[in-house]
Amino acid sequence: MKNVVLLGSTGSIGTSTLKVVEDLSDRLRLVGLAAGGNISLLIEQAKKHQPLAVSLADPGKCQQLSAELPESIRCYSGNEGLLKLATMPEADVVLIAIVGTAGLQPALAAIRAGKDIAVASKEILVMAGEIVMREAREHGVRVLAVDSEHSAIFQCLDDKPASSVRNLWLTASGGPFRKTPKEEFASITVEKALKHPSWVMGQKITIDSATLFNKGLEMIEARWLFDIEMDRVQVVVHPQSIVHSMVEFVDGSMIAQLSTPDMCLPIQYALTYPERVKSERVQTSLAKLGTLTFEEPDVERFPAIQLARRAGTEGGTLPAVLNAANEVAVDAFVKRKLGFVQITELVRAVMDKHVRVDHPTLEQILAADKEARQMAASGV
Ligand code: NDP
Repeated sequence: MKNVVLLGSTGSIGTSTLKVVEDLSDRLRLVGLAAGGNISLLIEQAKKHQPLAVSLADPGKCQQLSAELPESIRCYSGNEGLLKLATMPEADVVLIAIVGTAGLQPALAAIRAGKDIAVASKEILVMAGEIVMREAREHGVRVLAVDSEHSAIFQCLDDKPASSVRNLWLTASGGPFRKTPKEEFASITVEKALKHPSWVMGQKITIDSATLFNKGLEMIEARWLFDIEMDRVQVVVHPQSIVHSMVEFVDGSMIAQLSTPDMCLPIQYALTYPERVKSERVQTSLAKLGTLTFEEPDVERFPAIQLARRAGTEGGTLPAVLNAANEVAVDAFVKRKLGFVQITELVRAVMDKHVRVDHPTLEQILAADKEARQMAASGV
């Protein structure tokens, strides 16, 4: 039995994780659940799964939470609550699926407490990949990928060292505007951007998939997870989202991982690793699919890819700045205060103004994140 703490249980990844735990109830047990503001869903989940502890972002709602749950379930709140859950003595693995940056400190706390972490929140590795991977090595714990692309690469690599890799190939669906001419980008609305062609996900990552910032963040995530330079991290557009990513080895061989798109598969692999466990949930018929296609990403229409490459190559505090500025820009776009094209323009302007710190401490990363948010909020 593996004991799992799930941070972000009420979101898209969180609810898929609960399905996986239900499928594999003889192997996985939820010992901690944390949510942001969705108290009713958290209560429902806690009643069903009977974890040892739960946590909510808002301390003001803690009393209501305890009143509704059995006494055996401990209730916490805020960042302290996340840290409590991430370091629970009973936990074997902490799956972090919180949107935004709130997952970073709990990830580090879990590592320091000797827990394996399963990372969905790409912000963690984008902001502090160097620190997170170093701490994981020092504490002898695993950093397991939940993102489907990174799970695919992890599966294809099969423990081969970075020296045996020519390129990592991240696949991108291309998002809803893959074929939209540049002249029409100015009229892209929030509603159109929220219609992803192949994945149903949370709001922030869906907008990031439309700008291709999601792929940019994933490039930086891959750089750290697999300890490889940015110029060996490539992107290819694959609209069917069946090939989740590929590894091109030094001998020219390419190995890919394929399946119908369903996040339950990479979540299950992360939680049951190194085993492969039987599940009927995901079925793939290549004959029915017929055709798989690949094309170059258009970096002129989607400059986010180049911005992320620059951030990942220069490193230091720049990836945290890209991530923070993008979060502010996406929020402004969703609130209809910023146009679609201006998301990338704002991120570029904030990056240009930032004075990079190399090999930053966590404090320097958090300071850069804060400064970038302020710059972005004030339009630079
Ligand atoms: P959602 O918006 O669907 O869910 C976000 C989750 O984070 C919710 O449970 C939310 O709680 C919780 N949350 C937000 N703030 C806090 C906080 N301060 N404390 C505790 N919990 C908080 O996002 P997704 O599930 O789509 O994405 C989560 C992460 O996983 C993101 O980093 C995303 O990039 C990554 N990811 C997502 C994929 C997907 O398919 N969705 C694929 C790969 C990666 P509440 O709802 O209660 O407010």
